[in-house]
Amino acid sequence: MSKIAAPRGTADTYPPESARRQALEARVGAIARRFGYGEIRTPLFESTELFVRGVGEATDIVEKEMYTFVDKGGRSMTLRPEWTAPVVRALLEHNLLSNGPQRLYYVGPIFRYERPQAGRYRQAHQFGIECFGFAGPEADVEVISLADDVLRGYDLPGVVLHLNSIGDDVCRPRYRQALYDHFAPHRALLSADSQRRLERNPLRILDSKSPEDRALAETAPTVLDVLCTDCAAHFAQVRALLDAIGVAYEIDPRIVRGLDYYTRTVFEFVSSDLGAQSTVCAGGRYDGLVASLGGPPTPGVGFGMGIERLLMMLERAGLEPLPERHGIAVIALGDAARAASVPLIAALRRGGDVPVTSDYAGAKVGNQLKRADRANARGALIVGDDELREGTVVARDLVLRSQVTLAVSDSLEAAVARVRAWYAGLPAPDAVSEAV
Ligand code: ATP
Ligand code: MG
Repeated sequence: MSKIAAPRGTADTYPPESARRQALEARVGAIARRFGYGEIRTPLFESTELFVRGVGEATDIVEKEMYTFVDKGGRSMTLRPEWTAPVVRALLEHNLLSNGPQRLYYVGPIFRYERPQAGRYRQAHQFGIECFGFAGPEADVEVISLADDVLRGYDLPGVVLHLNSIGDDVCRPRYRQALYDHFAPHRALLSADSQRRLERNPLRILDSKSPEDRALAETAPTVLDVLCTDCAAHFAQVRALLDAIGVAYEIDPRIVRGLDYYTRTVFEFVSSDLGAQSTVCAGGRYDGLVASLGGPPTPGVGFGMGIERLLMMLERAGLEPLPERHGIAVIALGDAARAASVPLIAALRRGGDVPVTSDYAGAKVGNQLKRADRANARGALIVGDDELREGTVVARDLVLRSQVTLAVSDSLEAAVARVRAWYAGLPAPDAVSEAV
């Protein structure tokens, strides 16, 4: 029978790669919580209309990237292509804004019908945050510095924060007009997509990836020249506060973000290590979004970070977020030893927080040790005929390759306590890497 493959642009994640993802997700979640953000989870699919209204009809996402289907009840549904609109939907549905400003983070899949390539998938995963209820520049800076903490924490080379403001309802129409006037005389030189964008949303031509558009975009007027007084003041404060907390940035008047709902601050963290898909994190302020989805006028600011792109950067920089060595492999040699080790394994798993694995297939001791090493176990308990006879186990430090013998024949409780004490006494990973 022919085999069935995973859909194009999707990937399976399995050990040890899944442990890397878990480590990354745990880390970004911990940083978000340190900033006072709580986790939000929303459904994988929503009414199509949410994204049409919340992302904007003239965006790549809505125009060509959504996975949309009609369910058996005849409703149009769409797999989540981005998180901000669903988060706002949930916020309004549960009236969370009545409790005051909200700080939320998320980690999970997005679905976009794109041409798959390195760093671009049809099912990708994002970590992101949304901060609702603060119009002032402090919130912009909080959000940017959280992303900065995540990326700087890994000490990644070549990551630059690009910062811009795209104005608001007062000054953006002026900018749109200025862009229109710049591009319209050269309409025929633009890509087919950008010829359409020219009428609907000329800002998005600046965001275009086609080379023919890039050339004309280089000479376009910059938004910073036309900002209204309030937007210019907001932008100056954002910059001053970033300076005050030591977050480095470059002003980049070319970044506009693909989504329609952004106002004022927009930013991207770009890596020189990622090739064509160089943006690892993108975000900004979207003061009009909550009202446009039927809620009370509420300012918001947030970002989305691509987990796959972050993993790619870590891999290229040789900084894979390898989980610390953790856990015990029980290596019982022979049928009798294997049977005798079952109560000890069960007792160690029950109530303890140390992962315990064991091989039941009777592999040779060398092979079992090798597998335990590959599975990133910290220690091994070895029980052979001699140990069985003497009521002991050999407890081996898989990193330092040293071992001790522990007595286990008095009582199960005493044996478990002895094993736990041995495990807890193994040197911490930092001390180990210095020692090795
Ligand atoms: P791009 O210009 O690369 O298409 P975008 O503007 O569509 O990005 P956003 O919607 O702002 O991206 O998403 C935020 C981040 O999520 C991106 O910077 C990127 O790291 C990641 N991301 C978005 N789409 C994908 C995808 N199809 N595959 C992998 N990562 C993605
Ligand atoms: Mg895109």
